[in-house]
Amino acid sequence: MYDDNNIFAKIIRGEMDSDKIYEDDKLIAIHDAYPTAPIHVLVIPKGKYISFHDFMENAAAEEIAHFFKTTKQIAEMLNLGDKGYRILANIGKTAGQTVFHMHLHILSGKTLQ
Ligand code: 5GP
Repeated sequence: MYDDNNIFAKIIRGEMDSDKIYEDDKLIAIHDAYPTAPIHVLVIPKGKYISFHDFMENAAAEEIAHFFKTTKQIAEMLNLGDKGYRILANIGKTAGQTVFHMHLHILSGKTLQ
């Protein structure tokens, strides 16, 4: 069950501060508060989805397309097109998901192992 009190829901509602680099009516992109790479950005849809799995199962096709196209544009905005970057999603506790609101990580700025 989706928990309205998760950190990203609070950030989306403006109840918690974040270092926002992009926002539109469907998603936000923020710097990760505990970066594991020189560039570590989180792309977060505003809809209430627990995980990537939930998002892919329940979001509208247009919302999914917008999300991934905008993620690519955000990577370009960060000049990562040439440098290279990784996108990843942890799905579920055992995979390392700690915030149960769908998000993608964009990682770059060093050689990633
Ligand atoms: P997950 O582990 O769920 O894949 O990713 C959650 C991410 O959220 C982690 O990389 C963690 O560092 C980040 N994070 C946790 N709390 C906050 C916060 O309050 N603000 C921001 N900007 N990032 C956070």
